[in-house]
Amino acid sequence: MKSIVDELMAHVIERNPHEVEFHQAVREVADSVAPVIEEHPIYRKLRILERMVEPERVVMFRVPWVDDDGDIRVNRGYRIEMNSALGPYKGGLRFHPSVNLSILKFLAFEQVFKNSLTTLPLGGGKGGADFNPHGRSDGEVMRFCQSFMSELFRHIGHNTDVPAGDIGVGGREIGFLFGQYKRLRNEFSGVLTGKGLGWGGSRIRPEATGYGAVYFAQEMLAMDGDGIKDKVVTVSGAGNAAQFTIEKVIHLGGKVVSVSDSNGTIVDRDGIDEEKLEWIKELKNVRRGRIREYKDKYPHAEYLKGARPWGIPCDVAFPCATQNEISAEDAKTLLKNGCRCVTEVANMPTVPGGIEQFLAAQIKFAPGKAANAGGVATSGLEMSQNAQHLQWTREKVDARLREIMHSIHHACVEHGRDGMFINYVKGANIAGFLKVAHAMIEQGVV
Ligand code: NDP
Repeated sequence: MKSIVDELMAHVIERNPHEVEFHQAVREVADSVAPVIEEHPIYRKLRILERMVEPERVVMFRVPWVDDDGDIRVNRGYRIEMNSALGPYKGGLRFHPSVNLSILKFLAFEQVFKNSLTTLPLGGGKGGADFNPHGRSDGEVMRFCQSFMSELFRHIGHNTDVPAGDIGVGGREIGFLFGQYKRLRNEFSGVLTGKGLGWGGSRIRPEATGYGAVYFAQEMLAMDGDGIKDKVVTVSGAGNAAQFTIEKVIHLGGKVVSVSDSNGTIVDRDGIDEEKLEWIKELKNVRRGRIREYKDKYPHAEYLKGARPWGIPCDVAFPCATQNEISAEDAKTLLKNGCRCVTEVANMPTVPGGIEQFLAAQIKFAPGKAANAGGVATSGLEMSQNAQHLQWTREKVDARLREIMHSIHHACVEHGRDGMFINYVKGANIAGFLKVAHAMIEQGVV
């Protein structure tokens, strides 16, 4: 008889040919939950996994817009509404030239389990467009966002589907998208999260993904009475997730020695301090420049053109850029250089061959769906504040974020314990799966 995983994967590959990132994400979850399904035949009888891999709805649409030269451009927009068993669809929008159905289905699938782990009532979705914001003026980005929302608005709503940011979608884009939604619907509602503080945003939302991931790493290290203090840390990326991961590591006394973008990596062996981090934020969020400029400002640093940070010796690594950015070879190098903790802040940044090595070496390895869940969790808190027409203090949101990361860690330990070792991949997948599965069973065949 075929194994549960083989049977499911044959089905998924046949129905979604060429969607390799989606296959990768499904296989990882299926590998973890197969023993649970073997033990409890109800999940198989009710075809829970088969239903989970089929999005409830996929919307794909034309996004025409006019560039600064008056030329007409056409992009493709998407929204994947994956699973609403636990609440309204929730998940970010990604604007990047690599965006396609496979990438968004993998992200939406991961999002379902992540949102389940947060303990909040959130379903899972993801969306975006193959639009590249790099090098575009504010006016072009605004016209693109307005055109994108002119179609998306009819599919979303504060009780239906609540998008947020992701790669290429930050505060500026959320503002333009929200403005257009408000205009079309004639309604001011919490339909998007990551909003500006003055118009419905939550304190700590910009920080939440990075801060939450560092809180999760602290929880893992604390299992051995250890912490981030004095650890040498490598970080990839220089965007939202990376900036606030670096900030929290600095607060906790760690030393961050790298930062990167898609062109290359900066190595700063003296450590990135608060002043250097402020300079990076200005470079990336205001001037929208390239990370190589760091070396012009701080000449003692090294710039590795075209390289990723995984060759730099470190105790703890935080991949914060994109999927599959740690190859099997990178994983080997990290282990050889003594890295003992890898916390995924990006979604699925480690290839399966890399994860295998981290698990075999029994280091502390946190999968993105557990470690980066602080971002969506704080989006959930933004939704609660919008529903109450209130804004909570920074201290209150941060305390809730810490509690949520603590409970996600606890759930991973509960379901991922393997003797003395905690397999956080298995723990996160099983804990996330069980809650969604039970809701689906209780809601019938829909
Ligand atoms: P940003 O757009 O703010 O930053 C992305 C960073 O990653 C940039 O430095 C970018 O470099 C780099 N990058 C993007 N694509 C590639 C690539 N193909 N190769 C190398 N570098 C790349 O995005 P975020 O920081 O928001 O997102 C980063 C990761 O974190 C993503 O995986 C996202 O899904 C995940 N995440 C984000 C959350 C959030 O709240 N923002 C929540 C949960 C997960 P460049 O500028 O050169 O493109």
